[in-house]
Amino acid sequence: MPEKLIFELSRNGRKGYTLPSNDVPASSESNSIPVKLIRRVPAELPEVSENEVVRHFVRLSTMNYHIDKGFYPLGSCTMKYNPKVNEKTSAMPGSADIHPLEPQEAIQGALELMYNLADMLREIAGMTAVSLQPAAGAQGELTGIMLIRKYHESKGKVRSKILVPDSAHGTNPASVAISGYRAVSIKSNENGTVDLEDLKQHLDDEVAGMMLTNPNTLGIFETDIVKICKMVHDVGGLMYMDGANLNAIVGLVRPGDMGFDVVHINLHKTFSTPHGGGGPGSGPVAVNDKLKDFLPVPVVEKKGDKFVLDFTKPNSIGKIHSFFGNFGMLVRAYTYILSHGPDGLRGNSTNAVINANYLLSRLRGAFILPYKARPMHEFVLSADKQKERGVKTLDIAKRILDYGYHAPTVYFPLIVHEALMIEPTETETRETLDAFADALLKIDEETKSMPDVVRSAPSTSPVRRLDDAHAARNVNVCFKE
Ligand SMILES: *Cc1c(COP(=O)(O)O)cnc(C)c1O
Repeated sequence: MPEKLIFELSRNGRKGYTLPSNDVPASSESNSIPVKLIRRVPAELPEVSENEVVRHFVRLSTMNYHIDKGFYPLGSCTMKYNPKVNEKTSAMPGSADIHPLEPQEAIQGALELMYNLADMLREIAGMTAVSLQPAAGAQGELTGIMLIRKYHESKGKVRSKILVPDSAHGTNPASVAISGYRAVSIKSNENGTVDLEDLKQHLDDEVAGMMLTNPNTLGIFETDIVKICKMVHDVGGLMYMDGANLNAIVGLVRPGDMGFDVVHINLHKTFSTPHGGGGPGSGPVAVNDKLKDFLPVPVVEKKGDKFVLDFTKPNSIGKIHSFFGNFGMLVRAYTYILSHGPDGLRGNSTNAVINANYLLSRLRGAFILPYKARPMHEFVLSADKQKERGVKTLDIAKRILDYGYHAPTVYFPLIVHEALMIEPTETETRETLDAFADALLKIDEETKSMPDVVRSAPSTSPVRRLDDAHAARNVNVCFKE
């Protein structure tokens, strides 16, 4: 039975609280609130009892799928487990109850935490400075491209284009366009990496920079990276690394050492802060000396044994987020980094790579692996063989829900037909990986023996196939009417 909206559960006069009667004289609202702001019609709030509220939300929470409920192989998104100790530290009064307008002397601990976290991320990235402000990977990209623009401005010419491989995440060309640049697509070769010949064709003094993901969205490491950086630098461009796939390489290789000038880091992917469902993210940006002076303000500096906010950066691109970014995410990531230490972080990356390769070894017989290079922390299969049997990737993804899993990422990257992009992360056991592989192999069998069932999946989820185009165009249909 579909869950009703809480507005539909509402009955006039029902309530979920009792308050003692007032023992001080009531003041009239108009004493304290300007008349024009006083509500004339009561707010349309649902009227429900306390147990109805609790049951409603508990029922909803059990319909939802999340990392605490099961395996979540959503490629590119790094849905690793979020350790509960992170929640504990971020909920401590010193983290949760401070206000960003408190005087600096009163929030020394928070400033120290930001200073230390920035320094750790700087070390992990192999760069010279970090801004913690961006609220997501995409905003980190925008920040990075704004920094690149400012750099060229300081050299006298902003240039007009940024190169982006055809395997890139959609946010890359979007960030380029929003920054006033033209995104120029660079082809991938038969190994799934940047085609150096095509790159060469596009290099000239209009190139402001290149955005590259490494390992790329196929999970494949760009082995020509040093050469690529040199080629772009030789025409005066800068190198941006989309660091969304950092979980494959933490402690193994550093973006700065590969030759990148700027990288964003998704704390909500690599450093285990919760994500999905549109909650707050965090996408710090690390840069080398070329871009350091342009970083957003304020930055936390250490003066003697005090931590201070420095707003005096004359060449800064300005603010990119209110106050210091999403502070709660910074506390979680800091906890994660400290609780693992350098060896633990490196171990997480190598385990993420091992888990992905193990899962691939179980699946590559049944599904096509279009690019043969050994992947790192994720891999992309094609369901072209299943499509010949009349079953699309979308059908397979929906059928996976019936087996109790979240679906992998589908139809991305765009260069793979019928793509299924799988990222298990390091936190999953061999039993979990085997059970998931068994389910996918079973679905492959079903595409031969009972394709209709796969095509009409899911049959066990709270809702069946949704008309997402209709939902996107009619956002308000569930209210009023
Ligand atoms: C997730 C991701 C992004 C965007 O990051 P958000 O934090 O979701 O904004 C960019 N590039 C790649 C490759 C990603 O996987």
